[in-house]
Amino acid sequence: MIIILVSVLGCSNYEYEKVKTTVMKSFTNLGGISKYIDKGETVLLKVNLIMKKNPDEAATTHPSVVHALAEILIDYGCKVIIGDSPGGPFNEILLRSLYRVTGMEDVANQTGATLNYNTSTAHADNPNGLILKHLTIADFITKADKIISVSKLKSHCMTKMTGATKNMFGTIPGTVKAEYHFNCPDPTTFADCLIDICLNSNPVLSFMDAIVGMEGHGPTGGEPRQIGAILASPSPYELDLAASKIINVTTDEVPMLARMVQRGLCSKSTENIELVGDDINTFIQDDFVIPKTGSMHFLGDNPPKFLEDFVKHNLHPKPVFKHKICIGCGDCALNCPAKIITMKDRKPYVDIDKCIRCFCCQELCPKKAVDIHRPLLLKILSKF
Ligand code: SF4
Ligand code: SF4
Repeated sequence: MIIILVSVLGCSNYEYEKVKTTVMKSFTNLGGISKYIDKGETVLLKVNLIMKKNPDEAATTHPSVVHALAEILIDYGCKVIIGDSPGGPFNEILLRSLYRVTGMEDVANQTGATLNYNTSTAHADNPNGLILKHLTIADFITKADKIISVSKLKSHCMTKMTGATKNMFGTIPGTVKAEYHFNCPDPTTFADCLIDICLNSNPVLSFMDAIVGMEGHGPTGGEPRQIGAILASPSPYELDLAASKIINVTTDEVPMLARMVQRGLCSKSTENIELVGDDINTFIQDDFVIPKTGSMHFLGDNPPKFLEDFVKHNLHPKPVFKHKICIGCGDCALNCPAKIITMKDRKPYVDIDKCIRCFCCQELCPKKAVDIHRPLLLKILSKF
């Protein structure tokens, strides 16, 4: 049986030398860089740049971690590309401002890494995928010899948590993501979709910025949460398992983890993986806030017709738009996979009966103007 290593190391803040030492030690814990990457190779650092947010807001991979990885890999003899395809339109103008605000422009200037501006799409066969045997992907991921996932540990309104595996959803070009959401609307199918996408990009290593994570209404609207760790592993799945222990959720509570276990990609418990570095128990956040947005599924996804309206209105969470805060940018309407948000007088209105509860509108709203409302009956029943 192959034992997968997961490195867990304490790192209390983003002070550069401290982060670089921890990243170096992570490589050592995993057997050294040369075990995974040859000198002269081009390495893509697939960071999480979900939205144009300042690093202090904890929505994106912190530049200090990216800086350390880029510098170490360039010193080793690699060419480094930094890239992501965030939600919404994928074009050079938006990428420029995204790189500037998230600190990636500075990382590139300081290290000599290249920022990706290739916004073409490509197609890939995905023989290891379960439901996605063919994919539309961002072309830039095909230009690297090796990919390293550099994720951020965050809560997530739809998938409960996001880390190394879900980070690879950013290998799907901008608005094409909405198609995958729409075609995989329920949590289990979407979990398989995310796993298939990760299998296609097949990162050789995964690092996770868990120095400051995000809790609550993640992945963009939550609150920063001090955790103080950097995680790394050759397996994005086992890495996410270790991260789930830190934020105190079980594999059964996170559909993506449950499917990884069922598909034989990850262990059921961290007791079955080899954790190296510091004691993971010292990083566990007992009261980490995971959003409660799940539906009640005891009636199934296809309840009898006469119950359909009742279920829709009383047992499903739904997005609620706060028009007073909304600035009318239209990003929610542009990115809604179901195309059910209409802008009237620069305010969004949703045809809620057709909502697939992906919460992309909440995830991509720059002003936290979308709340996820849980009907009272759902709140009561969720307690049992
Ligand atoms: S709700 Fe948010 S994303 Fe939608 S138009 Fe208003 S500010 Fe933009
Ligand atoms: S309204 Fe929001 S939650 Fe509903 S389908 Fe559209 S983006 Fe997803």
